[in-house]
Amino acid sequence: MKSLWSDQEAKGLSGVDLVVYTSRLIGANSKLVLWGGGNSSIKTQGKDHTGKEIHILWIKGSGSDMRTIAPKNFTPLRLDELLLLKDRSAMSDEDMVAYQMKCVLDPKAPKPSIETLLHAFLPAAHIYHTHSDAICTLTDTKKSKKVIREVFGDSVAVVDYLRPGFSLSKSVAETYEKSPKLTAIILDKHGLITWGDTAKAAYDMTIKMVTAAERYTAKKLKGTQALGPMQVKPLPVQKRHAVAAAIAPILRGEISQHKPMVMLYEDAPDLLKFLGAEKSKKLTQVGPFTPDHLMHTRPWPLFVETKHPEDANVLAKDLQKALVLYRKRAVDFFNRYKQAGVTMLDPNPRVILIPGVGMFTTGKDPRAASIVHDLYMHTFPVIEAATAIDCYTTIGLQDICDFEYWPMENFKLSLLPPEKAFSRKIALITGAAGAIGAAIAEAFVKAGASVVLTDIVLEKVSALAERLNQEAGGLQSVAIEMDVRDEKSVKQGFEKARLAFGGLDIFVSNAGIARTASIDDLSLKAWEDSLSVNATGHLLTSQAALKIMKAQGIGGAIVVVTTKNVLAPGKDFGAYSASKAAQTQLARIMAIENASEGIRVNMVTPDGIFEGSGLWSQEIRAERAKAHNIPLEGVEDFYAKRNLMQRRIFASDVADGVLFLASDQAAKTTGAILPIDGGLKEAFPR
Ligand code: ZN
Repeated sequence: MKSLWSDQEAKGLSGVDLVVYTSRLIGANSKLVLWGGGNSSIKTQGKDHTGKEIHILWIKGSGSDMRTIAPKNFTPLRLDELLLLKDRSAMSDEDMVAYQMKCVLDPKAPKPSIETLLHAFLPAAHIYHTHSDAICTLTDTKKSKKVIREVFGDSVAVVDYLRPGFSLSKSVAETYEKSPKLTAIILDKHGLITWGDTAKAAYDMTIKMVTAAERYTAKKLKGTQALGPMQVKPLPVQKRHAVAAAIAPILRGEISQHKPMVMLYEDAPDLLKFLGAEKSKKLTQVGPFTPDHLMHTRPWPLFVETKHPEDANVLAKDLQKALVLYRKRAVDFFNRYKQAGVTMLDPNPRVILIPGVGMFTTGKDPRAASIVHDLYMHTFPVIEAATAIDCYTTIGLQDICDFEYWPMENFKLSLLPPEKAFSRKIALITGAAGAIGAAIAEAFVKAGASVVLTDIVLEKVSALAERLNQEAGGLQSVAIEMDVRDEKSVKQGFEKARLAFGGLDIFVSNAGIARTASIDDLSLKAWEDSLSVNATGHLLTSQAALKIMKAQGIGGAIVVVTTKNVLAPGKDFGAYSASKAAQTQLARIMAIENASEGIRVNMVTPDGIFEGSGLWSQEIRAERAKAHNIPLEGVEDFYAKRNLMQRRIFASDVADGVLFLASDQAAKTTGAILPIDGGLKEAFPR
């Protein structure tokens, strides 16, 4: 493993700034820690609020991530007061946390790590705790102590697994005090603790030990087939994606009965190789390589055994059967090992493995699903490497249950921002590059939805997706090219959409074009173009959306962006109004046909929107100015003044209406038209 230390960057840093620097180096390597795992500390001299000189322990706050950690994420504590606890023989988690809180110097600091005492009881000034893949490969073997001695000799001790807390801190301290020449301590089935007089020494020790473990494992892996022969070969990429896309909504429907989930799909070559091997199923059911993963991954993935991964229908049945068994196992496990007074979590898997096809990971939003994804992408290589050494082994079932339902660990979840109105929901918008489509997309992303942006021009929606993801601070939208007029393009686009977030809850049929001419002047091409986008395009995309929603079986909402012209047509808008009327009529029929499935279909009818609109080209403005006998620059005012409220209509107004109709507030509304026109009495729906 490469050291990222730079003397130049570290120059002049001290105290909490120094531990921030080193923690970020550790966090930058996903093979050391992932998503909030691990912790770090520094011991300094300082003054308390009375001006008294004291020893201070700065420790990583609970729930922060080393990759992005900042000084504000460290908690300063009175070290001498923490050290008084060393003489006690036992302490409950609650008492320990209450005591620690009283030692915190800054009331605004985060809750200190549950491993605070472990850092306090070791004398070194700099301490790092990681869940290194390579070190956990050694600890997660049957003969872990022997293996660790073989790699590190006597300079490293192994402490038996204990859940973090007072007892583990004491056990680590006693181990160190027995042999102060130790250079590091390994926590069995958990991770690594290194220390040093300087930050660099402690960091270097981490890198040195991980490198030694990596070399040892590489030797063991060389020329062996630890997981046995390949039994299920990966399907060819196109076939694999087609199968994954076919089963994704079925899987999502199954696992969303408790609460809807977002899913991410992965089919990296190494993962497929792992999934196809003979011993993989059994080994994936052992447990997580470090208990920290439990909160995200749950104890085991669902492994779908199937003889025919190429046949989506057979696979769907195998998947459903496997899920029934998985949930039963989860319930049995909970009932057998639970502590009194705890409530069972959702019994569905967070990782779903399908040989030949790939992996789905689930979460309340793409971020949560990507944490599970990242953890499992590090888990399967550890399983293989530990098997090459002797036998992949993790903490026992009682310990798994105790950790999974541990309030101290689950507390971290309460630090996350509250769920937004549309988190867990997946929306697809056609014509998303236009003014109205983009406004709808932006509103959905802000409200927490996972959004698939489609448009005939990929570059435009790609740029929009990039901007929205940047603003959201993570993956929340993807761009897909789709020509709604073309059956093949719609099919391909929706296949990609199925794999983007695993399904669909909200479909916004928004793509549209406007061609103007009086009927006697209307060209056949303009007429056919209008029908192909506004009517046929709407039909094709709605069919594809309904297919996904029905496969999921958890309802859905379709919102159709139509026009005021459907209710009150204007001259020269024959092709537009007639094609939009066809769209509207199709939407009403969809509402009738799909209500029993819990799928609602509603419409918004905006009046002219000028701001950034592709529909309102200069040409159309000029043409409308002529039609209404007004000057060109007066067109926008004319449209504003003709409504009862005399207000201009913006794309964001349409987005508000769409979000309302897609939301649970409109749960009992289907087949309805919501005008967004400032009030036009000739266009009142009836
Ligand atoms: Zn840990």
